Amino acid sequence: MAEAVIFLGPPGAGKGTQAKRLASEMGFKQLSTGDILRSHIARGTELGQKVKPILDRGDLVPDDLILTLVHDEIAAMPNPKVIFDGFPRTKAQAEALDKLLAGLKTPLLGVLLVTAPEEELVKRLLNRAQQEGRSDDNEATIRNRLEVYKAQTQPLVDYYTKTGSLREVNGLGTPDGVYQSIQSALGVEV
Ligand code: ADP
Repeated sequence: MAEAVIFLGPPGAGKGTQAKRLASEMGFKQLSTGDILRSHIARGTELGQKVKPILDRGDLVPDDLILTLVHDEIAAMPNPKVIFDGFPRTKAQAEALDKLLAGLKTPLLGVLLVTAPEEELVKRLLNRAQQEGRSDDNEATIRNRLEVYKAQTQPLVDYYTKTGSLREVNGLGTPDGVYQSIQSALGVEV
């Protein structure tokens, strides 16, 4: 059965880790727009060269580029089962996704809002910077990503509250604990 799940929340909340596990245990394809962009940068594609300075600043890539990427990933799937991680990030992206999913007759199972206090987010991202060396994990960029989240992505919480899709999940605690909260928020057991 075609279905979609969205992970929403600030950078550092643990969306990526949880999305990956949910995808592998429930047979979904995880679609992380951040990972796709970083792969373009690593391969030095035209798109990668264009978006690298944007990611390094912590700003958002223009909606049209992101929407083309997402469309190309899912429009060809005969029976999409997708977990979106890091997308949508703006209201325009959310509205475009609604249309895309409706066209593909793919219902939205839920929007998981994973949250954590801001200082915890900064701590986790600085820690990840030491371990993985992601070029956008430095303090100035991290602070900017959090500001961009508040200004551009937080309004989606209202949007998905109105549509009745939002499910809040506390991102503090062990990864297993958070995963259990996600399963109960979605009403699934695996
Ligand atoms: P994080 O959740 O840690 O911020 P992501 O890997 O989701 O990291 O995204 C990293 C960067 O990639 C963002 O700061 C932004 O520049 C770009 N990006 C990813 N997804 C989107 C999107 N849906 N719209 C615009 N820009 C995006």
